[in-house]
Amino acid sequence: MLTPRQVFLQHVAQTSAAPLMIEIERAEGVYMYGPGDKKYLDLISGISVSNVGHSHPRVVKAVQEQAAKYMHLMVYGEFVEAPQTAFAKALVDILPASLNSVFFTNSGAEATEGAMKLAKRHTGRTQFIHFRNSYHGSTQGALSLIGDEYFKRAFRPLLPDILCLEYGNINDLSKISTQTAAVVIDPVQAESGVTIPSIEYMQALRKVCTNKGALLILDEAQTAFGRCGSMFAFEQYGIVPDILLLAKAFGGGMPLGAFISDTKIMSQLTDNPVLGHITTFGGHPVSCAAGLAALQVIQDENLIAQVERKGKLFESKLKHSKIKSVRRKGLMMSLEFDSFEQNKKIIDLCIGNGVLTDWFLFAPQCMRIGPPLIISDDEINFACDVILKAIDQC
Ligand code: PMP
Repeated sequence: MLTPRQVFLQHVAQTSAAPLMIEIERAEGVYMYGPGDKKYLDLISGISVSNVGHSHPRVVKAVQEQAAKYMHLMVYGEFVEAPQTAFAKALVDILPASLNSVFFTNSGAEATEGAMKLAKRHTGRTQFIHFRNSYHGSTQGALSLIGDEYFKRAFRPLLPDILCLEYGNINDLSKISTQTAAVVIDPVQAESGVTIPSIEYMQALRKVCTNKGALLILDEAQTAFGRCGSMFAFEQYGIVPDILLLAKAFGGGMPLGAFISDTKIMSQLTDNPVLGHITTFGGHPVSCAAGLAALQVIQDENLIAQVERKGKLFESKLKHSKIKSVRRKGLMMSLEFDSFEQNKKIIDLCIGNGVLTDWFLFAPQCMRIGPPLIISDDEINFACDVILKAIDQC
């Protein structure tokens, strides 16, 4: 008989030669528990998903209640389903007036795809601009926007008419033109090891897009729902995107994404062709119920008010001569070491000592720190002690 680990390796499709292979039996709050009650303090939130912690009782209750009422009824966009309407209303109530139409998807990649199609439809243009070290999903349209040739090469031909700019370089913005359908950008670039653009840059970008008639698509899959210290990261730049992408924490732990725009733009998907973007499970009622409950937890527990202070606590504790740089926005943080090898050794020691962390897609020498926002000061102190001890040993 195969063990679950053997089945995992032999019969569950793999994405790398070295999966983490951590077994988890249950998860609650900031902790995950493996066999024999092995406890891990989660510093990565399933990559920016578990902002309200694992299995928050209010999210679990919302899931259970909705599952008992109904699950899938009909493909997205046909039936009036209360979990979708309640969540859409709660979202548009906290968004700027021009972001008033929510297209629910299953994932971040699908939100990117839908937004790209919408931008083509709205502008009649085909060029997309993205940035070095950007990640917006793994499907072929979204993959066309990945800012690293290594990940694209084997899958070409991808979409034509793609231009890659340097993230944060204000001079590069002159390359946005009247050919550009949309610029797709993260308000903080997570996977390059937390790169934070200046307010001046983001405002200049907004202005150029407006002047050239290109749509500004902000990908907040990782940055929204308090992660960066505000409900949405764009609020901190004083700009409003034409299309906002949400995913990850959006579903409160359930699969959910969205692209959000003005009805005037979004209505393009309803004709010529009709059904311009469709999905069976997008905006699944159980996912929407979970997402709404998670949003209400963030609001009712006032989680965002503590994010910057907690981030600062991490930063003040994590001082070590072997840390080359620290970059942080709220509770999205990167610690840079000399090499991937050194970082990996530190990460493995942390995991062995019950603190779960990892590295970034385009910055393997950087350690990722992005815990659930509910993490307590004691837990932060414990995590930092474990990390510092691991660094001492490497
Ligand atoms: N955008 C960003 C910024 C992401 O980090 C990710 C996922 N890592 C995605 C989009 C894609 O989301 P998904 O994995 O749900 O397709």
